Amino acid sequence: MGAQLNLVEQNLHLVEVSSKQLLFHIPSSSLFELDGLTKQVIDLLRLRPQQTAEQLIGELSGFTEQQVSETIREMVALELISDGSPLTAEIGLKKVTEFPLNTVVLNVNTGCNLSCSYCYKEDLDKPSAGKKMDFITAKQSVEMLIEESPNEERYNIVFFGGEPLSNLSLIKQVVAFAEARFADLGKPVDFTMTTNATLLTEEIVDWLNQHRFGISISMDGPKAIHDKNRITVGGQGTYDVVSRKAQMLLSRYRSRPVGARVTLTKGITDVERIWDHLFNELGFSEVGFAPVTSGDVSYFNLSDEELVDVFTNMKALGQKYLTAALEHRNIGFSNMHQLITDIHEGNKKALPCGAGVAMLAVDHEGGLNLCHRFTGSDLDTFGDVQTGIDKSRLGEFLDQRLDRSNTGCESCRIRNLCSGGCYHESYARFEDPTQPVYHYCELLRDWVDFGIEVYSRIMAENPAFIDSYISPRRAH
Ligand code: SF4
Ligand code: SF4
Repeated sequence: MGAQLNLVEQNLHLVEVSSKQLLFHIPSSSLFELDGLTKQVIDLLRLRPQQTAEQLIGELSGFTEQQVSETIREMVALELISDGSPLTAEIGLKKVTEFPLNTVVLNVNTGCNLSCSYCYKEDLDKPSAGKKMDFITAKQSVEMLIEESPNEERYNIVFFGGEPLSNLSLIKQVVAFAEARFADLGKPVDFTMTTNATLLTEEIVDWLNQHRFGISISMDGPKAIHDKNRITVGGQGTYDVVSRKAQMLLSRYRSRPVGARVTLTKGITDVERIWDHLFNELGFSEVGFAPVTSGDVSYFNLSDEELVDVFTNMKALGQKYLTAALEHRNIGFSNMHQLITDIHEGNKKALPCGAGVAMLAVDHEGGLNLCHRFTGSDLDTFGDVQTGIDKSRLGEFLDQRLDRSNTGCESCRIRNLCSGGCYHESYARFEDPTQPVYHYCELLRDWVDFGIEVYSRIMAENPAFIDSYISPRRAH
């Protein structure tokens, strides 16, 4: 008598696209077209679990014994079927013992010249009260990066605030230092910055361009939407100045594509209109949306109904992305593009993001935080740039998230793409960054299903889009 076979439901997810059955293999985030025999094996084991290979062969009369045995063997190898042997441990169960740090975020000034009503920054100060990082701390941060991970292929220094351009003199010092330091090591270094654009001048733009900064501009859409929240300390809308500065930047910035970063909050769900303005009317190369569901100022959180609207509208824009992709055009919808990239590359994430592993954020005093959103929060820091990373505490923190046992994520079909969601969202919602963020899982799962559909249509109808717009990103 052969082994009893059972489906491993937590590893498979079936999706129908254009009347074709696809199988999303969850452990590897890979998509397969389902052949008739595999589909029938799945159906039979769903109907009656615990069958032997001989029983299945007996039931599947249209196929040879060899065909059925071969299919079962493949499905056991992919752990879609279990024969009772222990399954490979999920990636999420490993421990973090190494921190391959390649990115350091410098909070160069806690001060911001704007006063956006939804701002999550707990350490945000008025411009005059901003606490600026000094050069010694910034230099120690770069040295820590090199010392911790001497073997990375490339490094990234991110300038954050408050408004980072309100401490441009430090940014210039850091760039001069880092360019020389990394050149000596023969390693490339990239600089990135998210800015509200208001302090940009042509001279600054040309300097950023010369140093190939990756730039994102925080902008929420057309005037009526942008001016709802993105206001000056005196309460005035900032659309006019931000759009003027953004257009100036876009007209002369050549070194890298420039993205817009949109924050979706209470009452703001019109994703398509916002994208249209930023992509078509202003000329950004990419537009990324960050729905706020757990901000520190809960008044600004999207309500449950609004969140449903946001995802419905993201899917409508996703349809536009698909139509354009089939015509070999990229409409710069970053959220969709990232999802398609993850599916194409079969990305598997044990943790939701690089925070605390490949990236740490340094506050103005040198304290080490999981990411830019935690600087100035009440969460204890994980060491500092003067004395080094508190690896045991950081490892303990990450291990709690890696261990998915007894959480809703354990068997979730998008567990290797979502990985429990953003730590800061959990922190803002439950004051505990180790908790998964459960409040919109269904919407996230539906969004990934939609991504699978878009990806498989592109692969079937214009795979050259992937070669032109997705694959080259990797080499970047
Ligand atoms: S947070 Fe929700 S959607 Fe994300 S992996 Fe966990 S259960 Fe799945
Ligand atoms: S914790 Fe959240 S905000 Fe921070 S890097 Fe990760 S996903 Fe982004």
